[in-house]
Amino acid sequence: MPAFEDSDLNVQAQPAQQQRSNSQAVGSSYGGSLPVPGMEPGTDRSVEVPATRSSIADPSPYMHQLSLSPSMKDRRGSRNSFGASLPIPRSKRQSRLSSVHYPDAKSGRPGMPPIQPTREILASQIQDLSGEKVKFAKNMAFAFDIDGVLVHGDRLIPEGKRALEILNGDNELGIKIPHIFLTNGSGKREVPRCEQLSKILGNPVALDQFIQSHTPMRALSEYYSTVLVVGGEGYKCREVAEEYGFKDIVVPNDIIAWDPTIAPFRVFTDEERATSRPRDFSKINIDAIMVFSDSRDYATDMQIIIDLLKSENGRFGTVAKDPVSQRIPIYFSQGDLLCPSEHPYPRMSQGAFRIGLEAMYKALTGVDLERVVYGKPELATYKYADEVMTSWMEQIHGEEKLPENIYMVGDNPASDIIGGNMYGWNTCLVRTGVFQGGDNDENNPASFGVFVNVLEAVKTAMRKELGQDFKFEWSSDNVNPVLGGGQDYSAIE
Ligand SMILES: [Mg+2]
Repeated sequence: MPAFEDSDLNVQAQPAQQQRSNSQAVGSSYGGSLPVPGMEPGTDRSVEVPATRSSIADPSPYMHQLSLSPSMKDRRGSRNSFGASLPIPRSKRQSRLSSVHYPDAKSGRPGMPPIQPTREILASQIQDLSGEKVKFAKNMAFAFDIDGVLVHGDRLIPEGKRALEILNGDNELGIKIPHIFLTNGSGKREVPRCEQLSKILGNPVALDQFIQSHTPMRALSEYYSTVLVVGGEGYKCREVAEEYGFKDIVVPNDIIAWDPTIAPFRVFTDEERATSRPRDFSKINIDAIMVFSDSRDYATDMQIIIDLLKSENGRFGTVAKDPVSQRIPIYFSQGDLLCPSEHPYPRMSQGAFRIGLEAMYKALTGVDLERVVYGKPELATYKYADEVMTSWMEQIHGEEKLPENIYMVGDNPASDIIGGNMYGWNTCLVRTGVFQGGDNDENNPASFGVFVNVLEAVKTAMRKELGQDFKFEWSSDNVNPVLGGGQDYSAIE
């Protein structure tokens, strides 16, 4: 078990008693012993030598709080929690030139599934006769987490497809209900990810309704010229950064190709060498570090990041005299400690990597690391979501306004739900992902409730806004558009 010693960390020692009270662990402190092989020749029995250092690892006093602590109950103000400012893009749309992706490209209506023209006419006639309901339908919106809500990895959660069909117009009004996708996912350009999701979900996922953890970080390209981009598969995060407008992008492989001794444990393949872009990094200042996605090689990435953080203004081969004033900034795209995967137990994610770095940095320099964490539940991400939602409303309904009743549907109480609650959204917790608890999450209860799946959450929210008798199916068969107002829609579902 690793132990952070006060002396290692160059900080004042706490009394052993206090150390014990800081931890749930009841193991001995300064009283443990380390077995070593027996000294007597011919014996293989071990003897126990009293340990001189605490067996209890408690790095928490040496690290910053998480962006938001996991529990709303014990959340305290922290330096980067809604306090420091996080830039988000000024322009509402990711790109005015961005394309919209459909499973079937025949549709001319952004974000709408392909439909028959007659249906479009019928729908608009019905909407004309249902003024109040239409008003309510345009005043509500959904923000969906993706993993654990709509998909498991590349596998569809079937209720997710149906929920999106309803929101894309398969409802009694034939109306599209605004919705965006707000994920802490990362490591891939938005366009291919939207294409992939459109296929899996069987519903259009447009670039302009899609936010990954690093999407708002495109704003940082205005501030920093040369950046180290860390994480992700191959060179995909370099492509992400290029698309965001960063001008000079360095990735760890470029640095190893320049000086392999920088990462002594890294096995660097010929292919990696051939695809890297080495330069003389002793002559270049790196302006900032961007951790975009999960590290594929903790040892190498941590070493390179620590080297840069300790350097003089981001120049390899230097060590700053003052580690604080000469330190370059570091940004993380999200703070989740764990993420669900194919493995039976959630795997460590960027948050775990970050905590490791914070503790190492403190141990090596004696000072706290300042860092900024984007992604849910950070305020900047939700503010950006509002911008995206407003502009999506303009695209689908021609009204550039933010709906008042927003429902966040997520599976993770510690990011989706806490963030939505703090931002004043209605929150729906689903049981198809991380959350496996009882009636509601104890620390971060969902304000609108817990649902077996996303379809139930969507139906319940729509019934609340549009009436208990609202029908989740479009059918023109039973509707006479001329007499529509007097129709009994109950036969439709
Ligand atoms: Mg999730």
